[in-house]
Amino acid sequence: MAVERTLSIIKPDATRRNLTGDINTRFEKAGLRIVAQKRIRLTRAQAEGFYAVHKARPFYGALCDYMTSGPVVVQVLEGEGAIARNREIMGATDPKKAAKGTIRADLGESIEANCVHGSDAPETAAFEIGYMFAGIEITG
Ligand code: ATP
Ligand code: MG
Repeated sequence: MAVERTLSIIKPDATRRNLTGDINTRFEKAGLRIVAQKRIRLTRAQAEGFYAVHKARPFYGALCDYMTSGPVVVQVLEGEGAIARNREIMGATDPKKAAKGTIRADLGESIEANCVHGSDAPETAAFEIGYMFAGIEITG
């Protein structure tokens, strides 16, 4: 399998509960390398642009409110099959349905406040990494 990069976000519910280190340890133990990382507070316009793909979904407005409610840690993870691997480590969107031992099952609060975001395909990973980082900020 090819080495890939994926965009990860540690969401406001997780930064608020001081879970950044716990979550990063899970990524590193699973063989993913954090090749870029920064803690930022998204503006409303930045959150809306990032989630533009979800514009028609009923939860879009609430999701943008939530993602701007506190700081987030945006990061690029690198590794073999990193996109799918990260989504395995994250678990299903709804923490109640996520497999035991995944980030969302262990730490998630609700279907919205579910600790982490991860890109879902090579095309979305490329868009999302470019949205959050300049090439010069990423070093493998
Ligand atoms: P992410 O894109 O954050 O990695 P995902 O791909 O598992 O998660 P999506 O369907 O892309 O889930 O939804 C994006 C985000 O919107 C979810 O992570 C969650 O925070 C929020 N969300 C999804 N479904 C709902 C819902 N039914 N009600 C409220 N919020 C939701
Ligand atoms: Mg998604």
